[in-house]
Amino acid sequence: MIGMFKKISALIITAALCAGLSGCGGAEYLASGEAVRTFYAMNTVMIINAYGKNSEQAVSDVQDRILELEKLWSVTDENSEIYRLDHNYDHGQAVEVSDVTRDVVNFALDISNRTGGALDPTVYPVLSAWGFTGDEYRVPDADELSRLLKLVNYQNVKVTGNKIALEPGMMLDLGAAAKGCASDIAAEILREHGIGSALINLGGNIMTVGTKPDNTGWRIGVKDPGYHEGEKNIGVLTINNNGSGGTAIVTSGNYERFFTAVDGTVYGHIIDPKTGYPVDNDLLSATIISPNGLLCDALSTAMFVLGSEKAAEFWRENSNKLKGFDMLLITKAGGVLITDGISDSFSLTDKTLDLRVIN
Ligand code: AMP
Ligand code: MG
Repeated sequence: MIGMFKKISALIITAALCAGLSGCGGAEYLASGEAVRTFYAMNTVMIINAYGKNSEQAVSDVQDRILELEKLWSVTDENSEIYRLDHNYDHGQAVEVSDVTRDVVNFALDISNRTGGALDPTVYPVLSAWGFTGDEYRVPDADELSRLLKLVNYQNVKVTGNKIALEPGMMLDLGAAAKGCASDIAAEILREHGIGSALINLGGNIMTVGTKPDNTGWRIGVKDPGYHEGEKNIGVLTINNNGSGGTAIVTSGNYERFFTAVDGTVYGHIIDPKTGYPVDNDLLSATIISPNGLLCDALSTAMFVLGSEKAAEFWRENSNKLKGFDMLLITKAGGVLITDGISDSFSLTDKTLDLRVIN
């Protein structure tokens, strides 16, 4: 069990895209230059499509690297850096980690800071109490939660160079950001191999590179978070990148992993670190779009915790500071809120929903 990386596809590639990938336009080129690699890592199915010379070697290198990252970040593999940190029985004693782990921890802590702790990579003890780190779900009582919440505080993670120290009882988990970071690294590896067209799908955490081989934009379906019998889209984002540039699209929502308690209450896997309870606000899902996969992943979780109003406020105040990101929020009331940067690239297919632009 790799713990917290589990997430069922949040974004699905539309039928249109699949057709585009395997059939029409440039079939000859695809036959000679397409490589597809599917594998299981970080508790999810990953699919890498790359086009061009060297694509076979490129996707193979991506798979190897992602499996290495999983070994570093797994919360259950006793040899992982995160496991060593979490089970450092002399807590307070720093644990030396690799550069990539240091960087992703620092990035996550920075987003924790900017979001007032909506993202908190130390929420793991609370998550465990709910059973989201294993398979036996339960509803912890208020006393247990308030005791565990004392262990949750990103400000108590001390990073000095490559050394990280936690306080006694604290645990760190990169589940909310790991796949985003992995998608950035995957895109980089593909580019190093000269790949200018690729679609990286890490369990619904999407990174697009360049354009489709026929030079049209990638069409990425945004999943209907309220639909549980299979998958359905509420709309499609068309992504056009310059050159071999990339755009990530990452969605968070409590529909991805949840359980229903005996009283019928549904509890999801994203926890509000302020209360210790699974998020229950006006949102069904939060999607973030930007060139930076790690940013998208960290922010999608955080914006889902914040709810639509605070998320819109955060976007207005921080989008420029974070080099620009866009957002698509689906509310329980049947609203779709999109930031103005994607108003031209998003097309709503579920016309029962009410589309509004945030600016
Ligand atoms: P994501 O699917 O990227 O939104 O990440 C959700 C995962 O992050 C969960 O399965 C937990 O492992 C972890 N998590 C849940 N709530 C939080 C939170 N508020 N801050 C950081 N990580 C969280
Ligand atoms: Mg996330």
